Amino acid sequence: MSAAADSKLPGGRTVRLPAVHRVLSDAACQPLLAQYGREQATAALRALLAELRACSLGATGDRSKPSSLPAPSAATAGKDAPAGVAAVIARLAERLERANRSALFPVFNLSGTVLHTNLGRALLPDSAVQAVAEALRWPMNLEWDIDTGKRGDRDNLVEELLRELTGAEAATVVNNNAAAVLLLLNTLAAGREVIVSRGELVEIGGAFRIPDIMTRAGATLREVGSTNRTHLADYGSAIADSTALLMKVHCSNYAITGFTKAVDLPELVPLARGHKVPVAVDLGSGTLVDLEQYGLPHETTVWETLAAGADLVTFSGDKLLGGPQCGIIAGRADLVAAIKRNPLKRALRVGKLTLAALEPVLALYRAPDLLPERLTTLRLLTRPAAAMRALAGLLQPQLQHALGQAYSVAAEPMLSQIGSGALPVDQLPSHGLAIRAVRPVRLAEAAIKVASDPLGALEKRLRALPRPVIGRIANDTLWLDLRCLEDAQLDIFVRQLHLLRP
Ligand SMILES: *Cc1c(COP(=O)(O)O)cnc(C)c1O
Repeated sequence: MSAAADSKLPGGRTVRLPAVHRVLSDAACQPLLAQYGREQATAALRALLAELRACSLGATGDRSKPSSLPAPSAATAGKDAPAGVAAVIARLAERLERANRSALFPVFNLSGTVLHTNLGRALLPDSAVQAVAEALRWPMNLEWDIDTGKRGDRDNLVEELLRELTGAEAATVVNNNAAAVLLLLNTLAAGREVIVSRGELVEIGGAFRIPDIMTRAGATLREVGSTNRTHLADYGSAIADSTALLMKVHCSNYAITGFTKAVDLPELVPLARGHKVPVAVDLGSGTLVDLEQYGLPHETTVWETLAAGADLVTFSGDKLLGGPQCGIIAGRADLVAAIKRNPLKRALRVGKLTLAALEPVLALYRAPDLLPERLTTLRLLTRPAAAMRALAGLLQPQLQHALGQAYSVAAEPMLSQIGSGALPVDQLPSHGLAIRAVRPVRLAEAAIKVASDPLGALEKRLRALPRPVIGRIANDTLWLDLRCLEDAQLDIFVRQLHLLRP
């Protein structure tokens, strides 16, 4: 059914494409069959041969077609090997490898944003990685109380640690902070009103908007104040019988400056208490420790927020906390209990991998003095600029050599940001490589072809590396911030640089 067919190679020579069974029975094909299975390998082979046939019949001598096949080599050009069985197998191997490559793979985050949402936010410490591996491999006591032999509650695995680290009476964990906010609003305020300042109607990337979440939760948003100024009296006059909740939202990714007024929690709490209305705070990033002790800008902690009288707080697990993606709700025991009874909790709950990763990360917070060494996110955020400067000095000549004279590479100071809505206006001094296109006039006579967008072209080449390098283009410069390039991956980074050579 798949007889060898006469075909023209792109060069115009006529070759016979090998029959499917001839390729599949070749000794060199056996490892491919073992790895990918006969069905997949056969289908890929048929597709490959069909392409080669179409190419050689249709476009004579079109070298741009992807399927040009080398003519049989002396070794394979015998009677048994029309059109180079070996060449077809090499092509097949490539095709199968490409088709089976993982869609999710590691990259170098040299964007300057440490907690980059599109690059997966926090990187987890080894203790969490090990715990996840165990949880993947073995049955676990996820919802099983080992002491009583009865059904348990998965939140119990981390609730004690969360209570200890936040001062909360109770806590529960869901899929992410957006889910935490949705669940909280749906439980406490469905069919009723939630009062929020107009200055805090946040939109987080990826279509999370407070007003929209409010609608989906079945609650009615009652906006008070103005964009830049909200006073206590604005909250006061909005409170009615229909009020279920006062809510404050962290301005994660913007700052309102100038003529501004916001009502702080200690001011708001007595008003809420007077009307017996709970106060919830969406902290966004929500840190568990005072970051100032590590030389970072201050960010209100979960503990401080609860101590100031918030009844509930919500925050992300994979932002400043440095853990896996999840959303944590902590606060008053009766309110957390109500939230856990909401059927939506079942739909938004976390899996065992998340809990396996979260517990060891939380446990690190018991030793805050050791945290910058142990918690990857904090280690990256507190990495001294001198370390990045030394690295930039080391890499500058290597990258310059790889890129040739069309680009200039300089080791320069730059600013990193924390990212993911934490401390949006604060930037951290860093160092890295600044790459600029060299203007053609400054190039040697033998005019190197200059792309119309040389930086864009280079950015693309960096993305095409085996482990893609993600930088950032601004002010006619491609910036590679070295904060997140740690020693452990330096070798991988350096070893692929030669692939950039023109
Ligand atoms: C990031 C953020 C969210 C969303 O958290 P996810 O964990 O990404 O779902 C919600 N609110 C605020 C204020 C945030 O900063």
